[in-house]
Amino acid sequence: MFTSYFNETHDEARRNIRRFVERHIQPNINEWEEASTFPREIFNLAGDAGILGIGYPEEFGGNSEGDYFMSLVATEELLRAGSGGFFSSLMSHGIALPPIAKWASPEMKERIVPPVLRGEKIIALAVTEPGGGSDVANLKTRAVDCGDHYKVSGSKTYITSGIRADYYTVAVRTGGDGYGGISMLLMEKGMPGFTTGQPLKKMGWWCSDT
Ligand SMILES: Cc1cc2nc3c(=O)[nH]c(=O)nc-3n(C[C@H](O)[C@H](O)[C@H](O)COP(=O)(O)OP(=O)(O)OC[C@H]3O[C@@H](n4cnc5c(N)ncnc54)[C@H](O)[C@@H]3O)c2cc1C
Repeated sequence: MFTSYFNETHDEARRNIRRFVERHIQPNINEWEEASTFPREIFNLAGDAGILGIGYPEEFGGNSEGDYFMSLVATEELLRAGSGGFFSSLMSHGIALPPIAKWASPEMKERIVPPVLRGEKIIALAVTEPGGGSDVANLKTRAVDCGDHYKVSGSKTYITSGIRADYYTVAVRTGGDGYGGISMLLMEKGMPGFTTGQPLKKMGWWCSDT
């Protein structure tokens, strides 16, 4: 017998997200793809609609923590806009925020997670480097512990939301060779020595900031 994992709450969320897409995304998506961007305001609207908070704890402004079927509903409905690039860019916190929400200090969680879920701040995950992507265990960016701060040397590429993010969850090498020597650091735009490059021109996903 067929079992549905979607209940009335999922169905209501589906209707709301579908309306959000029909109203704010679908009428504009072709224009945004041509323009290679979409307005930052969309993050605020998605935050207000509760879309960015799906899967995160209520104490940080999230909802439906651990409900993977709610995430599935959001993914299906957002992709109705017809643009994988839009989805990946709007939801870049989906790969960048979990390490902060799970493992950061209480102060850092409190400072970073709520504004991202409200859509006021954008966060990106920076793992890939010009010298390699798949081979994460061999990444080269080095972070040296200087007591009250880290000194980070290296560069990243292909980062979704990489140009306009406010926060970056960055994979760095703090230890020896291999995956055991890798740590994650939160970096913020405006830190001394931090620069962003030019947006990459891609074969697809044009409106995604890479
Ligand atoms: C649009 C876009 C958005 C992205 N967003 C992000 C992001 O937000 N954050 C981030 O950190 N990265 C991001 N990436 C990077 C992405 O994760 C990497 O492109 C991916 O990990 C592959 O790395 P690479 O491009 O260096 O290819 P490589 O690792 O050089 O691989 C090239 C080819 O070799 C093959 N290959 C590699 N290793 C082996 C092996 N051991 N055996 C056999 N075959 C192998 C691969 O399958 C591939 O076909 C993004 C990439 C794109 C294109």
